[in-house]
Amino acid sequence: MSVHRSPFERLRTKFDETERQCRHCGAQGDESAWRVTTTGGRVQYQFVCPTCDAIETKEIRLG
Ligand SMILES: [Zn+2]
Repeated sequence: MSVHRSPFERLRTKFDETERQCRHCGAQGDESAWRVTTTGGRVQYQFVCPTCDAIETKEIRLG
């Protein structure tokens, strides 16, 4: 069983577990609501609520 996962994937999993709920309307997002982009040593997560279109952005510095 392969358990090799990048830090990137671990971060994503962490957010999936804790931040799936929209702060504005309380709707529950799924994985597809997250968009992940990397810029240099940073990872930016953008959550777009499927219900009210609120956008939540989180930025994490790697390393
Ligand atoms: Zn919402």
